[in-house]
Amino acid sequence: MFPAGKCIRTAKAVQSRTPSMQRAISILRVSTKKQLSSGDGIENQRLGNNEYIRRRGYRLLDEVVIAETADDKERRDFEAALNSIVARKREVDLVVFWKMDRVSRAGVGTYYALKAYLAKHGVRIEFATEQIDATPAGELMESMLAATARFENRLRVDRTIGVERILTREGYWCRAAPTGFVNGRTDAGKPILLPHPDPRQWELLRYGLMRQLTGAYKVRQVADELREQGLITRSGNPLTRQTWTKICRAPVYGGMLCGPWTDYQFVRAKFDGPLTPDEWRRLQEVLDGRNTVARRLPRQASRPEFPLRRFLRCPKCRTPARGYHAVKKNDRRYSYYDCRNRACEFRIPAAEAHRMFVDLLRDVTPSPELLALFREVVLEVWESEHRELLAKSIDVNKTAGRFREEKQALIGLMKANADNPSLVAELRADYERVERALALATLARDTAEMEEYEAEAVVNHCVYFLERAGELWQEWPVDLQNRLQLMVFPRGVGFDVLEGLSNPDLSLVHAVFADSARMAAPSCRVTNRVIAELIGWYKILASIMPVPLIA
Ligand SMILES: [Zn+2]
Repeated sequence: MFPAGKCIRTAKAVQSRTPSMQRAISILRVSTKKQLSSGDGIENQRLGNNEYIRRRGYRLLDEVVIAETADDKERRDFEAALNSIVARKREVDLVVFWKMDRVSRAGVGTYYALKAYLAKHGVRIEFATEQIDATPAGELMESMLAATARFENRLRVDRTIGVERILTREGYWCRAAPTGFVNGRTDAGKPILLPHPDPRQWELLRYGLMRQLTGAYKVRQVADELREQGLITRSGNPLTRQTWTKICRAPVYGGMLCGPWTDYQFVRAKFDGPLTPDEWRRLQEVLDGRNTVARRLPRQASRPEFPLRRFLRCPKCRTPARGYHAVKKNDRRYSYYDCRNRACEFRIPAAEAHRMFVDLLRDVTPSPELLALFREVVLEVWESEHRELLAKSIDVNKTAGRFREEKQALIGLMKANADNPSLVAELRADYERVERALALATLARDTAEMEEYEAEAVVNHCVYFLERAGELWQEWPVDLQNRLQLMVFPRGVGFDVLEGLSNPDLSLVHAVFADSARMAAPSCRVTNRVIAELIGWYKILASIMPVPLIA
């Protein structure tokens, strides 16, 4: 009997049969490991449930056993059990669990969802060991027990990560591999991260991070470019600005670990990232705006004797070269670049490499005629872009607005259909698709940056730089040399290129000239990406040579 005036929310025929007619399904949930020793073991639960059903005067209709496992199988087993109960809803009045924690490990929300779901089909839940009824005290007990079960479950999870915590503090990686990495093991069987087996992904990552480190590009620009170049995230999706920000901010890309498992202390990892720890720290400063090119050039850890260190690559294995001094018998020091893999037998005197590099810079310097043409074309494109820009940004805003509306509509539909899991799953897939499309649409706003800069100033600085890169490199201090190198050869240079055996991987701007050399008449194809690159250069150059230059 319910107390008078009590509102019974489940209006369906839950209580239509008298107790003696009511039929129960007993649900036993067992942790496969603990079931034998623990008091909540399967036999215990069975006896307890059966006793409860007998005492209440119900009839035991069936028994279902669900094993708890760490993976997704448990959820599927649970769903299958629920579906079989609902399929028999005409015969079933209630299900009996042993204890609240047997149902609500996943949290209060799950328990109430389950309760509501079963109630809709006229099936209620009872617990053999807990007094939960529709009185206020019963309701309080119900939510407290559900919360307690969730809390206990959290504690259990905390205990299981104890080992990972220890290993992480030792510098090992104990989670799924992030973008650009794969999971591996040391010879001793400890988990460790390894660079992605596709070296291009790894190179792209380093390329993008170094580009971001120059301080001349927006996160969005680099993310955009990397996506076009084919950088794939861990989940196989195209790279978004958000993902790229996360990558730039993750210490693992500087070969370090830092997080709750290390008590937020930085730990040098047992593996290298695409950046050195020092480069990664400087990148954080750049991203924080504490170290933009306009304010202060980053303090370089590079040694002045070895500007090509980590930039020059071994011609055999493509590993970035090291720089070192050798002291010979006559006590004189000799400087070399070499490959850390001895098998490659790559070693070159530093002075010789520097001479060859200056030659290469001169080789890629465009002719005065081409530069004049380039200046003209850039100014022209800039002007016409400027006119199109307004129209375009209106378009982008319209598209983005449409996607936003669609997102809102989908959210509404999901809310309205919360009780239909399969429909919600479909709607969620739609939602994710729209969200991706929206991210891409807003990325298209890049060109807006052209608005902020003077076409003449940008072109003057860049043409000046293009004409004199070889001379400037010899004059500049090592940190600026490093900048210059990456501006001209964003991916570094293999020694085979210095030897003239391979073609260099040039900047977008230099590529324009390389293309035009192949055409009959002098011509320049200047795209928006080239202009964006020029603006990036300008930001660097203006901080080094602030005086407006006349080329
Ligand atoms: Zn090598």
